[in-house]
Amino acid sequence: MDTIIPKVTAKRLPLYYRYLEKLASAGIPRVSSKELSRSLNIDPATIRRDLSYLGALGRKGYGYDVEYLIQFLKQFLKQDEVTHCILIGVGNLGTALLQYDFLKNNAMIVAAFDIDPKKKGKTINSIPVYSLRSLEKFMAEEEPLVAILTVPVQAAQEVTDRLVNSGIKGILNFTPTTLQVPDEVKIHYIDLSVELQSLIYFLKKSEPVGLNEDDR
Ligand code: NAD
Repeated sequence: MDTIIPKVTAKRLPLYYRYLEKLASAGIPRVSSKELSRSLNIDPATIRRDLSYLGALGRKGYGYDVEYLIQFLKQFLKQDEVTHCILIGVGNLGTALLQYDFLKNNAMIVAAFDIDPKKKGKTINSIPVYSLRSLEKFMAEEEPLVAILTVPVQAAQEVTDRLVNSGIKGILNFTPTTLQVPDEVKIHYIDLSVELQSLIYFLKKSEPVGLNEDDR
């Protein structure tokens, strides 16, 4: 499929997909944009526009055919080859990362998880925040490939173990600790303080640059 869809729409597609699958498993054959709107807390006009990008046009008084839309979205999400990621730990750093658009790198954060009950049910930049308790269920249903880890350091290994046991393939680790994982799980470490320290080291090591007569 060559359709180019806006990034904001692409971000919402997994939400539609998940909800439609729920409807299908409950044996519900069709759904209106109003019902989708109520359940997903997205404006109905936005839903109609999003789905029209896929060529799926709801019929007045009928709504959308659930099974048709699922097949469509399935194909679309797969063909686009966007890697689905999750983020664990919606604090200062996690919230900042959720605001960032990774789609230009063919990746998107489809869900976030936090242990704090006050954060459950929030949506940040169209990304739903779930309780950590639903991590395993989500992993089994959605099979995201990568997890971004932004929890406090004390929680890092325990959360990692849960991710590994649920089949995660890669972890982008922002926590300041080395994680124990099996060989088949890839970890990338990101530490801004190390980068900063190394920059400062090179700045201090290099000879001071003198000003030219002309610059004075
Ligand atoms: P924060 O305290 O603002 O956020 C942590 C979040 O994790 C909170 O929302 C908390 O409720 C949640 N949390 C706690 N335990 C959890 C668990 N078991 N499962 C899921 N969520 C859990 O902290 P922050 O400033 O956002 O930093 C987060 C992590 O990132 C820390 O480990 C910090 O050291 C690290 N950090 C790394 C860099 C870097 O350059 N790599 C920069 C800043 C912070």
